[in-house]
Amino acid sequence: MVEIKKNAVLDGNQKEIITRIALACGDDRLTVTRGHSTPQEQLSLIHRFAVANECVFPEFIPNGPIDLKVELSGVGLVYHWQRTWSRLLHMGVVVNPPHTAICLEEYTRPSGEQMKGKLIDESAHIVGQKNGCFPLDFSARVNGKISFARVRDVLEKAKAAGAGIKEIKLERGNTCVHIDTLPIIASKEA
Ligand SMILES: [Zn+2]
Repeated sequence: MVEIKKNAVLDGNQKEIITRIALACGDDRLTVTRGHSTPQEQLSLIHRFAVANECVFPEFIPNGPIDLKVELSGVGLVYHWQRTWSRLLHMGVVVNPPHTAICLEEYTRPSGEQMKGKLIDESAHIVGQKNGCFPLDFSARVNGKISFARVRDVLEKAKAAGAGIKEIKLERGNTCVHIDTLPIIASKEA
């Protein structure tokens, strides 16, 4: 079965995908932790990860305005969250920014691309994917234990069965498995 966290905001397409994934679960219990997000929620997520990893820079304003920039000597004019977020990436805690921004530190994408000095887009949980669909996050916990492999196996099975999964990404830094989705209920909506 698939459990849905109380605060997860889901659209019809996501709900249908979850219904289909539930069919592939067998005895495993998966948990959906996130559907749609706001920039403020993304900022809270960054704050939570940064506290856990002890890399909150002094200019960071928890719950502060997303667009607020600060002038830092030796760095320049940056968003108040930009150094903290960049450090997380550098440490391997992969999280999108609440707003498109330049990564200030060395961070190599799984594709091998070095992102220091390059723009990284805001989370697809905020603005949607290029195909207009929104992604889903699952906790890496299954039946109470962290098992990325088990969650991935269920999702791979669901993907093969046509559950509307485009891509499965393991996000070890935040203990979740992210899926990009496909439009599967467009034909039902007149
Ligand atoms: Zn995600």
